[in-house]
Amino acid sequence: MTHIELAQGLHVIIGGHFPKCNTLVILDDEVVVIDPGCSIEDLRAFLMTQNLNLNDIGTVILSHIHPDHITHAVRLNRLSRCRIAANDITAPLFNDKEKMKNFLGFHRANPVRPLWENLVNSKMFGALEEGRIDEELHNGDKFALGNNTLRMVYTPGHLPDHMCIEILESNLVFGADIDLDLEFGPFYGHPNSSISDFKDSIRRLQHNDYNGLISGHLQTPVIEDYKTALAAYQRHIGMREDLVLAEIMNGAGTIAEITLRAIIYPSLTDPVFLQFETWMIEHHVASLLQRGLIEEKKKRYVAL
Ligand SMILES: [Zn+2]
Repeated sequence: MTHIELAQGLHVIIGGHFPKCNTLVILDDEVVVIDPGCSIEDLRAFLMTQNLNLNDIGTVILSHIHPDHITHAVRLNRLSRCRIAANDITAPLFNDKEKMKNFLGFHRANPVRPLWENLVNSKMFGALEEGRIDEELHNGDKFALGNNTLRMVYTPGHLPDHMCIEILESNLVFGADIDLDLEFGPFYGHPNSSISDFKDSIRRLQHNDYNGLISGHLQTPVIEDYKTALAAYQRHIGMREDLVLAEIMNGAGTIAEITLRAIIYPSLTDPVFLQFETWMIEHHVASLLQRGLIEEKKKRYVAL
């Protein structure tokens, strides 16, 4: 199955795991597509079941700047002249892909940059194309569509620009990369990701009583008991931190030594994933230092 209907006019095209994502399609006064990172053929096939085509899309909304979520935005804009909307942190990054690369840690001096660009161009082709955001959104902004009203909820941590999108009438929330996927996520693998912001964002979603959370990556995208799932998701971050601490207690004293144990991603055969792993381990080491559980002595981390 490539798509499911969540409510009248509210559909999810299943893109699944990275390098794709689940795409929300809302058929209302206009056709709205949130995070166009699913297969474009699946999106086209779904629209055809509704007697629509790709050039009937009126608005594309982006939850954040990650290539697997913005993949087809520029292409759809060219095809349909749809407007592209994103929040005020995402917008300047989308409008200048060099800024986006720097934001994600892939500045020119990073030797992994060309490998990451190759990964994006081979698996998420279109994400690095230059384009323009037509409408800037802000935290709490409402986007009225006739039968559906969307509301933007800033949820940083995964990245500073990450936002979730509430669908008020259905009382659902599109969690984007607060995706409840324990296999790949929670992901905070960039220099400007933040574990503490991520946890605050999880808590923010836990405080609201939604009918369900729509995951940006799970094959079964709607989780009704999302509060329990969010608790497990948050525990996963803590378990990783315990593993990092255990490695330091076992004598791993540098980021490179800790990273060799492949704590977050089981295989380190890919240099891009090794970079993500390194950044995530760096966040955990900073957190352990802040919690007073380790200290740095002669350029090596030691447990206290
Ligand atoms: Zn993401």
